[in-house]
Amino acid sequence: MIIRDLDFFISDARPEEPVKVKAFDVKARMGLTPSSLPGLNLALNPYMGCEHGCLYCFAPDVVKRPRETWSSEVGYRSNLPVLLNHELRTKRGVIGVGTVTDPYQPLEKMLLLTRKCLMEISRHDNPISILTKSDLVTRDLELICSTARPEIGITVTTTDEMLAAKLEPGAPSPRRRFEALSQVVKANIEAYAMIGPVLPFLEDRDLTLLLEAIKATGCTRVMVDRLRLRPGLEQALLESKAVRTTSCLTDHAHMGGQARFVREECIRLGLRFETAF
Ligand code: SF4
Repeated sequence: MIIRDLDFFISDARPEEPVKVKAFDVKARMGLTPSSLPGLNLALNPYMGCEHGCLYCFAPDVVKRPRETWSSEVGYRSNLPVLLNHELRTKRGVIGVGTVTDPYQPLEKMLLLTRKCLMEISRHDNPISILTKSDLVTRDLELICSTARPEIGITVTTTDEMLAAKLEPGAPSPRRRFEALSQVVKANIEAYAMIGPVLPFLEDRDLTLLLEAIKATGCTRVMVDRLRLRPGLEQALLESKAVRTTSCLTDHAHMGGQARFVREECIRLGLRFETAF
């Protein structure tokens, strides 16, 4: 069922064509699936596909969806709150919210599906760990505070608004994400900034700017992930003109050097450094 086919994008950093998305209802058979990600026991993904459309996204390969429709055709699991109501009676452990798609992508503003799931979770003792690239998460801070031991990670990859607009065309601007991170910190929720991935074409001074912007939010934890190259990704990056050459994307020594640099800068700035996965 197509419920939506309209222009949605409103951002000071996104002057390009408005994006259109087809949304369709998918009845899930299970709400919480086992997760093998570090620190998580269970995974909750209200959406299938992601309107943020990041060029470096490897999730389509993980869930075996075509990259071409990942951001333009998004499923929503409308029956998740009902399933959670039953499953949370017996399933225990840390729930990762948004392990393969963003739980606060633009559709959530209208559907409130992640919010309804959090309302079910808040009636139980399961800790939650939310990862998002959207400031929409701040809408739910009060609710999130009512869950057991909540944690929120906000992904930021660059301070460069125009670069982010090319790489993450459907996501809120970096400025909005830094503001959201600041609000999460102020709400006394365990917060971390996810630099995922560390973009191989950033220079040291770009990474320093990024870490300084994170520190300015009051957040004291930084998690990093490396770029996970998948078929078609190099081509997409070249076509976006975000990069002139893709040789750095396969230069593992260079990427290792970047991770070490970020770690050293974290130490200098008094930030806790962690690696993802
Ligand atoms: S926000 Fe995450 S899941 Fe969504 S497109 Fe970007 S990398 Fe993929």
